[in-house]
Amino acid sequence: MENLIELDKRHFIHPTSSIQQQQKDGAKVIMEKGEGIYLTDTNGNVYIDAMSSLWNVNIGHGREELAEVAAQQLKKLAFSSAFSTFSHEPAIKLAEKIATISPTGLNAVFFTSGGSESNDSAIKLVRHYWKIQGKPGRRKIIALKRGYHGVAAASTSVTGIPEFWGMAGHMMIDFIHAESPYGGNTEKAIASLRQVIEDEGPENIAAFLVEPVQGAGGVLIPPADYFKEVRKLCDEYEILFIADEIITGFGRTGKMFGMENWGATPDLMTFAKGVTSGYIPLGGVVVSDHIHNVLKEKSKGTLFHGFTYSGHPTAAAVALKNIEIIEHENLIENSRKMGEVLLKSFKMVKENLDIVGDVRTIGLLGAVELVQNPVTNKRFAQELNVAPRVIEALYERGVICRPVTFNGTDIICFAPPIVIDNEQINTLVE
Ligand code: PLP
Repeated sequence: MENLIELDKRHFIHPTSSIQQQQKDGAKVIMEKGEGIYLTDTNGNVYIDAMSSLWNVNIGHGREELAEVAAQQLKKLAFSSAFSTFSHEPAIKLAEKIATISPTGLNAVFFTSGGSESNDSAIKLVRHYWKIQGKPGRRKIIALKRGYHGVAAASTSVTGIPEFWGMAGHMMIDFIHAESPYGGNTEKAIASLRQVIEDEGPENIAAFLVEPVQGAGGVLIPPADYFKEVRKLCDEYEILFIADEIITGFGRTGKMFGMENWGATPDLMTFAKGVTSGYIPLGGVVVSDHIHNVLKEKSKGTLFHGFTYSGHPTAAAVALKNIEIIEHENLIENSRKMGEVLLKSFKMVKENLDIVGDVRTIGLLGAVELVQNPVTNKRFAQELNVAPRVIEALYERGVICRPVTFNGTDIICFAPPIVIDNEQINTLVE
């Protein structure tokens, strides 16, 4: 273990980490195995993975079926290109499957290796769409403050959490961040979005990119009807509506995709994470029939956009098996039901602790806000570092979840694997 920590310090630059803290303290934990909702470290300590690791291990850890499918595919055809007119069965079948489970009218898929690449691809696709439609001026992308969309060039810029712009500055221009609707009402949120569109000029706007529930922003669930109104507003101004379903897809919110909760159909949908439950990297963009038709009619010559691993056969085979498990084991229904159990438990916690503000869940995506005064919603002073300290205390008790402290909030996020049962929720909440 000590040797591993030394090697980690010397050679491993961790993603989203403090390099100085790593050098000072070393790796806090080295995980060794996973089963169901549990992770075990190299010292034999067992943790409840209440975040499904990075909101992605939807069907839980250690599913042999996925390992077997991956092994079979690796032996048969580990990799071959999908560039140009090359193809292979796993990617074709997965594209068909995703078309089947996606909202009506979204039937064609472009594959990537993960979420950031999916959002960058969606942004490039919508700009291309407008260009071939004879409206090259439509380039701006509107997103929301507190939205998180990844760390590639366009996805960093479209992310509405300023900490992510610190490393290398804004990567691209033409991105606007509108107010998050969280905590407000639909009317106000739509009026402010309309204002942004008017200020920027609708003729300059390509798309509105938005998460059904803002995950990394602190599990911010929008007001009812917000997305129905967003759909209408986008139609009114001819703005394409992109749903970032990277966290919310594949059962996380008690539906196959998050937008189904609001009865709104986007023009494009990005996905990653839960598509393979994190067993192997994969992501993608699903586009509407209309966009696909425009591409078929007007996109001349080669579209110079493709990743080596777009449609990776082994990743596709794992995704197909993962979706089969989600469907056959009724995990979407489980997510919905267990989300209600989790909310009930959160409410009990709120009754028993006078530092709990808002509690919320949608499927198995939930949050508990910590406040100094739950009546006035007065927050704790930021220097008290409340949420990170609570997360540390939970970790000491064998629960892994995530703090959000954006703008002085103290939010504890939960996204356990959607296989979690009643008893396990009780243990978690206790
Ligand atoms: N979009 C959302 C909503 C996310 O939560 C994430 C990752 O957490 C991403 C995009 C980026 O995905 P990736 O880390 O796979 O690039």
